[in-house]
Amino acid sequence: MTTDVLYSHCQADHRCNRTPCFEAQLVADGGMLPIHRNAELCADHLGDMVQALTAWARSLGLTRGQVTVLAIDPTWHVRTADQARPCKPFQFAAIPLT
Ligand SMILES: [Zn+2]
Repeated sequence: MTTDVLYSHCQADHRCNRTPCFEAQLVADGGMLPIHRNAELCADHLGDMVQALTAWARSLGLTRGQVTVLAIDPTWHVRTADQARPCKPFQFAAIPLT
């Protein structure tokens, strides 16, 4: 029995249809509230998106925070409810905002 199949693709570029295997998470001190941005990416777009997130934070004057990069299970979006749970994300980098 197949139920609720979801598909995902890299969020860096709408023309990229690769399955994301990384997630970049930006968390910054925005004053009153923390600022969060995240994107799921393929390996080809990971570096560009990390640079884009840090540049975006810098353009807003956000210097307290970081971009965390996680390896994610690329199959979790296509798993069905009756299949095994996806692997837990693995953090392998943290880039401080400057
Ligand atoms: Zn991509």
